Amino acid sequence: MRIDRIESFILKAPLAGGQRFLSSQGAFQQRTSLVVRLSTDDGLQGWGEAGVSMPVEHVQAYLHDVLAARVLGRDPEASEPLWHELYGFARDFGRKGACMAAVSGVDIALWDLRGKAAGRPVHALMGGAYRERVRAYATGLYYREEDLRDVDGAVARVRAEAQQYVAQGFTALKGKIGLLALRDDIRRLETLRETAGDRFLVMADANHAYTFASAVKVGQVLDRLDFHWFEEPLVPEDLPGYAALRRKLVTPLAAGEGECTRYGMLDLLRGEAVDILQPDLALSGGLSEGQKIVTLASAFQRPVCCHVWGSGVVVAAALQLSAMIPPVPYTACPHAPENEPLFEFDRTHNPLRDDLVEGGFSLVGEDLAIPTGPGLGVKIDQQVLDRFCVARRASGDRA
Ligand code: CA
Repeated sequence: MRIDRIESFILKAPLAGGQRFLSSQGAFQQRTSLVVRLSTDDGLQGWGEAGVSMPVEHVQAYLHDVLAARVLGRDPEASEPLWHELYGFARDFGRKGACMAAVSGVDIALWDLRGKAAGRPVHALMGGAYRERVRAYATGLYYREEDLRDVDGAVARVRAEAQQYVAQGFTALKGKIGLLALRDDIRRLETLRETAGDRFLVMADANHAYTFASAVKVGQVLDRLDFHWFEEPLVPEDLPGYAALRRKLVTPLAAGEGECTRYGMLDLLRGEAVDILQPDLALSGGLSEGQKIVTLASAFQRPVCCHVWGSGVVVAAALQLSAMIPPVPYTACPHAPENEPLFEFDRTHNPLRDDLVEGGFSLVGEDLAIPTGPGLGVKIDQQVLDRFCVARRASGDRA
């Protein structure tokens, strides 16, 4: 079995009603994913995803103009040496960002191929699942532009959206903070806790919006409101700031979505910067590296909860890895969130997540099921792929 063709598809999906939404870092106009398809000479196809919340045109260029020559002709069963070759090649210029996004897309597709060749899901090839389902949390409570002018409206929208997630069966919810003045975002957080009730898990994600002093103030509010984690309070470069903040707060800190590979994650762990590690498989190195990051985190007794904000391909990949995260610490009867992972289930409008994969993903109780079909365990809807594809490239035979 040899890889004889690499294709990639830039997918762009407009938002429902043209309604933009914002995090602390800016507005989202549309949803974008770069989906990768590897084909083999015996007719198998594997799917991957490269990059998250980023421009992907240069990832696609790197994949075809640089990596393709190194990937074509290779045996998908030998994904480990190939990963090291691709990483080693880019070590002097591409240990993070676009180069690693491309490697991640290839690696996820290799695992999908290997699973399909064996007729088994990725988690079975990786050693077997700890669980069949993983507790999901809704990611939402983004801002609307009118929130900047109408704080009372912003607070009312938090209440209404949180009520929706409760009605849908979620028992955990993550909301955005960091865009409004502190006192106004604190009102939103208080409203979230009040609406969700005491038994609900709630988390807050600042997308690195705060100075240290502001992060302490917000963190003290999260402590008072019993939030389950405080995500990316500070810029990712400020590891000493994270370590100092951890010492000041009760609420656990979560981060790592922009970080790559075992080496980047090791810096977070050794720097005592985080309680919960959040690798994104489409950026941090794919499933191969995801396994190593999980092992690394277990050595520090830190939970891993994947960052998941892409198409259905990376949702499936992250579910496969989530099957493989050992309980931290081991207990005879593990529970989420005490020692079981949580799973990020983005609830903003995104047909690339909901429609690209046949059947989509839906809650079973408060959980998502780990797909059990071969490879990633999902089928791509070709019509949906075609509908949203704005740029296709191909390398290799039949290109
Ligand atoms: Ca985040």
